[in-house]
Amino acid sequence: MKFDTSIALYKEAEDHIVGGVNSPSRAYKGVGGGTPVFMEHAKGAHFWDVDGNRYIDYLGAYGPIITGHAHPHIAEAISAAAYNGVLYGTPTKLENKFAKMLKEAIPSLEKVRFVNSGTEAVMTTIRVARAYTDRTKVIKFSGCYHGHSDLVLVAAGSGPATLGTPDSAGIPTSIAEEVITVPFNDVEAFRQAIRIHGEDVAAVLVEPIVGNFGIVEPKPGFLQAVNDIAHDAGSLVIYDEVITAFRFTYGSAQEIVGVQPDMTAMGKIIGGGLPIGAYGGRVDIMEQVAPLGPAYQAGTMSGNPASISAGIACLEVLQQDGTYDYLDSLGAMLEDGINKHASTYGLPVQINRLKGALTVYFTDGEVENYDQADATDGEMFSRFFHLMLQEGINLAPSKFEAWFLTIAHTEEDITATLQAVEKVFSIMAK
Ligand code: PLP
Repeated sequence: MKFDTSIALYKEAEDHIVGGVNSPSRAYKGVGGGTPVFMEHAKGAHFWDVDGNRYIDYLGAYGPIITGHAHPHIAEAISAAAYNGVLYGTPTKLENKFAKMLKEAIPSLEKVRFVNSGTEAVMTTIRVARAYTDRTKVIKFSGCYHGHSDLVLVAAGSGPATLGTPDSAGIPTSIAEEVITVPFNDVEAFRQAIRIHGEDVAAVLVEPIVGNFGIVEPKPGFLQAVNDIAHDAGSLVIYDEVITAFRFTYGSAQEIVGVQPDMTAMGKIIGGGLPIGAYGGRVDIMEQVAPLGPAYQAGTMSGNPASISAGIACLEVLQQDGTYDYLDSLGAMLEDGINKHASTYGLPVQINRLKGALTVYFTDGEVENYDQADATDGEMFSRFFHLMLQEGINLAPSKFEAWFLTIAHTEEDITATLQAVEKVFSIMAK
């Protein structure tokens, strides 16, 4: 495969755009370097790059793409919105419709507010929790990524971890001191953190099913214990469902784990590929938000008709019968095939999968927390990533990320992917 045009464009990008990319996880630093491929168009489960190479896509734009690229129903909705005016700065009927759809799918959302990114959604839930509790500290779990606002960029997952900068420069220590980090899936560590800081903890922030050091499910009872212990201490529980909302079921991860948080932050899938975020929760908490309450949050682009139309269209597609069973069946086929080839070639592979999302770790052990994910073999992953790219399989360039399936993937795509995996494993085993 030739990447000449991508290489030339990346050189040009480096002259104009810092690091040549508009989000650090798009650079290939986490996989030993290389030139990020410049994609030109995408349809369904496939990408075509500027050199004319075709790929099967498992990046899914880091999670938002679940219907496949350029899904006609979503494309029509965006196009209609474009011709109807993309931004009014006034309320619209569409926002009511979408808010109702979200509330119906996720019952803990008694009231919602639309924003423009997952970062904004999480950042605001923390502000609201602080306003509600009149406390300042936040407990988060190591390796969980909650966007790039100051407070949560401490021991954050895939992007910063890949770059080896778990704590960003430019964040005052006074802010970092407001964050307590404990290992995911470790009830005792959490209990201890609450014992020490409980009276100051406004909220506990957690990805109920982790997506940012790979797909990691909570151990049975873990999230219920987090809820109980936090509530006993007067702290709120915020679920960051930016990846998980509508990824595993038509609704949220809270439905899967059977525990309800006080507030939820969302993004990614609910925008159908356009920029969006949303947060919501208990009405008495949400009423802290301006114009009703003292916690200020605003946005010129918030609830814009284009993003909302794309989001409605995306959820309409996901409502079709069998969506999540289909994703599950493709995911199982992929998981089984990769495991089979790994054992044939004697490679240490561990797959964590839920429905249509999975992470392939190079390790002999289980991955239940960030330290275990961090200890997996990054060099093997880098080799795997680059060889798979050569075979026309587009993965996220980081050992901490998930593969995301879409309803546009077919069994033929999975078969082709598994052929590539077999070839790549045979090279890696030499
Ligand atoms: N929360 C989680 C769990 C995420 O995975 C991400 C992004 O990857 C965010 C928040 C931030 O979302 P955004 O990139 O839309 O700001």
